[in-house]
Amino acid sequence: MARHRNVRGYNYDEDFEEDDLYGQSVEDDCCISPSTAAQFIYSRRDNPSSFAETEEYGYKYTEHSNYSVSSHQLTGVEKAQLDSCLDHMREILGESVPEKAMVEAILNSKFDVQQALDSVLAQINKQEMKIENKDTVISGKATKGKIRDSQTTRTESDVVPKVTKMIVSGKKRSTGFEVPGVDAKENGHNALMPQKGLSAGDANVSLGKTEILSKPALSSQTVPALEEQTTAPIPMKKSTKAKQQIDVKAELEKRQGGKHLLNLVVIGHVDAGKSTLLGHLLYLLGNVNKRTMHKYEQESKKAGKASFAYAWVLDETGEERERGVTMDVGMTKFETQTKVITLMDAPGHKDFIPNMITGAAQADVAILVVDASRGEFEAGFETGGQTREHGLLVRSLGVTQLAVAVNKMDQVNWKQERFLEIVGKLGQFLKQAGFKESDVAYIPTSGLGGENLVTRSQSSELTEWYEGKCLLEQIDSFKSPQRSVDKPFRLCVSDVFKDQGSGFCVTGKIEAGYVQVGDRLLAMPPNELCTVKGIALHDEPVDWAAAGDHVSLTLTGMDIIKINVGCVFCCPKESIKACTRFRARVLIFNIEIPITKGFPVLLHYQTVSEPATIRRLLSVLHKSTGEVTKKKPKCLVKGQNALIELHTQRPIALELYKDFKELGRIMLRYSGSTIAAGVVTEIKE
Ligand code: GDP
Repeated sequence: MARHRNVRGYNYDEDFEEDDLYGQSVEDDCCISPSTAAQFIYSRRDNPSSFAETEEYGYKYTEHSNYSVSSHQLTGVEKAQLDSCLDHMREILGESVPEKAMVEAILNSKFDVQQALDSVLAQINKQEMKIENKDTVISGKATKGKIRDSQTTRTESDVVPKVTKMIVSGKKRSTGFEVPGVDAKENGHNALMPQKGLSAGDANVSLGKTEILSKPALSSQTVPALEEQTTAPIPMKKSTKAKQQIDVKAELEKRQGGKHLLNLVVIGHVDAGKSTLLGHLLYLLGNVNKRTMHKYEQESKKAGKASFAYAWVLDETGEERERGVTMDVGMTKFETQTKVITLMDAPGHKDFIPNMITGAAQADVAILVVDASRGEFEAGFETGGQTREHGLLVRSLGVTQLAVAVNKMDQVNWKQERFLEIVGKLGQFLKQAGFKESDVAYIPTSGLGGENLVTRSQSSELTEWYEGKCLLEQIDSFKSPQRSVDKPFRLCVSDVFKDQGSGFCVTGKIEAGYVQVGDRLLAMPPNELCTVKGIALHDEPVDWAAAGDHVSLTLTGMDIIKINVGCVFCCPKESIKACTRFRARVLIFNIEIPITKGFPVLLHYQTVSEPATIRRLLSVLHKSTGEVTKKKPKCLVKGQNALIELHTQRPIALELYKDFKELGRIMLRYSGSTIAAGVVTEIKE
């Protein structure tokens, strides 16, 4: 059975035809959590407006309130219409609004579901404003402008998981020559994807807020459609008036209430518990509501994978759930005291390393999750395990700060000796990989139990010997990297999809400079100009965005067919170069066969994975001084530093490391292993 996603052959229109997505059954949502799952139950202990009875939005209702419509004397057809409208509204509003209010809105709008939704949402907004105003008064401060979204003022209905899938398996290039031993997965799923297929993007409106669920399409034969989708477009700030010049640095300081943005990737061996850890973290932070968590519990139980309930918060697709592995990079957002975090859950499985590289290429910092259980840490750490490879990869991609979550500590009874044993082994390796000791923190955790994640564990088994930070505190204390806001604009495309309006959308991280609605940008390749019609940051429309931001841009004036994952959008005046021949200084990893001239590799650069050949071996360099120790070597062996020339079949947009650190790193893979990493030193042609 084909295990890959046939994303390129994906028919985008099908997204909009499928309406029974997510299989969101109302009965499922309303039933009561089984006692066995008590630990998973959404706890808004401090919130007096419990799930069972709430007065949010000015309506008083109970959980199982069933508003009788008989008083409205409807005909059979009207009743059917009403039911259908109600179903539709429930899909969007969930249980946040009482049935009575929905029925009234439907009847008032004469069964126009859109109008009914608008009126309910308007009502909600009014109520939210009232709540906000009340909060302002309570806090005793005359706050100007919009109040920041805080965990304590959030209502239940706000708390929905927002996972954006970065479509690293999306619209990749398909031509190029074969790399021996590199299977279809490794080749960025190329073999399965026709050139002109589009990756899908769709948007999901929930309570007036929009979730981008830009998900990779799955082969319809292999995976049942599970995602909730509607056809609403992503909200973008559209250009309506003449462009104003802005002081981006000053605006950046003010934005997000002064909080810094940080891109965080979570890495580690398959089954180390990455998705569970993150799912639980998001849940404890209030980013996943009870209803959704309950649905995951029920669904995972039905599928015989109850222990994966938290992982399902991030493992969104049917195939990921079926296999119990993360394949794509799940992206979501949460806040700490001082930071706004864009979280990327990278796949741990060896087959999906290219996807992991794409995620890691966009990260500032990383959490490495290791399984503390006996034998499991060792399996992940040995050759063939992903712990070492991921560690090396993120470091080679420029990540310098690392938090190591020594996870599943419950499995080893929170034993200090085991923790220290792991810290010792990993510490040595991470030092060799180039991490400074002071930039690596080790935190004992249990993702499943939720211990030491958002608050320091009170369990005596741990407090006996551990007084350090919990995971969230560690994330909060990461240093935010310098953003190259002053440099010319660069954005490397991680996904391309068709929006509903004119033009199309690209997503990716802005590596340098900034962009404003109305800007003209150059895409390299294909060396064509386009105009920015809209920008969305964390699903919110904005006027501008700057280095470090993960954005979606709506673009016009160019054909979507010409844009691939890996294209770089840049400032037309100071553009990036596209080339097929360039030189790089590389460090050769642990390889079994020596590298010779003509060696075929898969080149990873930002979001690009492109077949290439090592065309020339120019010199072997001294590891620390960089002096040439041997010219024109016949071969390169493990551990060597060397200058090589690479040749790609098609042009790729590259920067020199000395000009743009963020855009000057490359990675070479062969036959499913990373064989070298390095920096671009010269662009030839
Ligand atoms: P991933 O592949 O790294 O994302 O791992 P998952 O999050 O999918 O977890 C793999 C398995 O480990 C699941 O069965 C989880 O329930 C289990 N697991 C995850 N974290 C813990 C933990 O802290 N303790 C225990 N005992 N099991 C865990």
